[in-house]
Amino acid sequence: MNDNLTAQLKKKAFELGFSAVGIAPAAALDFAEESLKERVESGRLKDYGFSRKPAERFTHPETLIPEAKSMIVVAWPYLISEKEEGRGPKGRVARFAMGQDYHVVVTERLQELGEWLAGQVPSAKYKICVDTGPMIDRAAARAAGVGSYGKNASIITEKSGSWVVLGEMITDVELEYDDPSPMEECGNCDICVKKCPSGAIICPFVIDQTKCISHLTQMKGIIPRELRPIIGDSIYGCDICQESCPKNIGIDEKTAEEQLIPRFPALIPLLNISQEEFDQIIGPTAIAWIGRTRFRRNVAVALGNIGDSSAVPALIEALTDPEPVIRAHAAWALGQISGSDACEELKKALESETDERVIEEIESALGN
Ligand code: SF4
Repeated sequence: MNDNLTAQLKKKAFELGFSAVGIAPAAALDFAEESLKERVESGRLKDYGFSRKPAERFTHPETLIPEAKSMIVVAWPYLISEKEEGRGPKGRVARFAMGQDYHVVVTERLQELGEWLAGQVPSAKYKICVDTGPMIDRAAARAAGVGSYGKNASIITEKSGSWVVLGEMITDVELEYDDPSPMEECGNCDICVKKCPSGAIICPFVIDQTKCISHLTQMKGIIPRELRPIIGDSIYGCDICQESCPKNIGIDEKTAEEQLIPRFPALIPLLNISQEEFDQIIGPTAIAWIGRTRFRRNVAVALGNIGDSSAVPALIEALTDPEPVIRAHAAWALGQISGSDACEELKKALESETDERVIEEIESALGN
């Protein structure tokens, strides 16, 4: 194994801005494979790509490069300072989504690291994975000594707590391996389990994605009505379990310039945002993949939960939107806010509405 090359590679990774880097043998992640199979069989991952392919696809680095020797795992810190913007009711965006899309940022940095490695070892082959890639990144991070699991299933690193996103590089270059991190270091603490408003951490280290607020803001279609209130003012992702974690206290923030969308954006201008505005404002962030309709749906739910009557005109406008999903959630939000204008417009909308799901939402809203 090449100790000097390993030390230089880690130095380069830190220079690129990663806050942790570790190296594991490119061997099967057996623990993760068992756990993934169990989660798929229990139906807790039914909306995820994991349930459509064999577990081995996500846990065997050698499927990416047959002669793979090493798996380099990096942690990218994303805690940036917060600000509010605009007037009126505000939503809440998960911190990882405020800056430029991390898939782009981490992939670019890993690509640079790969090019550096190929400069040292011209025969080097490497493949990069960031979130949507085939490797289970949290299991890879633990195997490479980057961090331990928290009871909220996030990876907790020494320098940046759990405020990190992860990436991997699988390579055929033999490097010096790190010891795996302990499986967990939470001890008796179970603050995040108790703080999760939807009870999505059904037991330590096990998340029921169907209840997780972050998942609800990303799912397709109509959000189950009974779950909308727990979403609160979140319009993308959720940080509640991380905010409550004592291991995340005292972590250094990065500079404010990297913030593209405020942590607490004004909601009313976002409800009927045009495609052009969406592409411009949301397009460069990690929120963009859910698309304009899901994003506006989330804004409608947050406005309904906040219950500020200043949102009524924008919600009335959304009642005539071409997308049934928007009309359905706007009707629900108007029902939450109530008031005579909202009722009048809901009754009018009921007369011309043809989509059964929307009719049902309007009737339910009028029932409120
Ligand atoms: Fe672990 Fe406590 Fe942090 Fe949850 S809040 S991840 S139990 S240390």
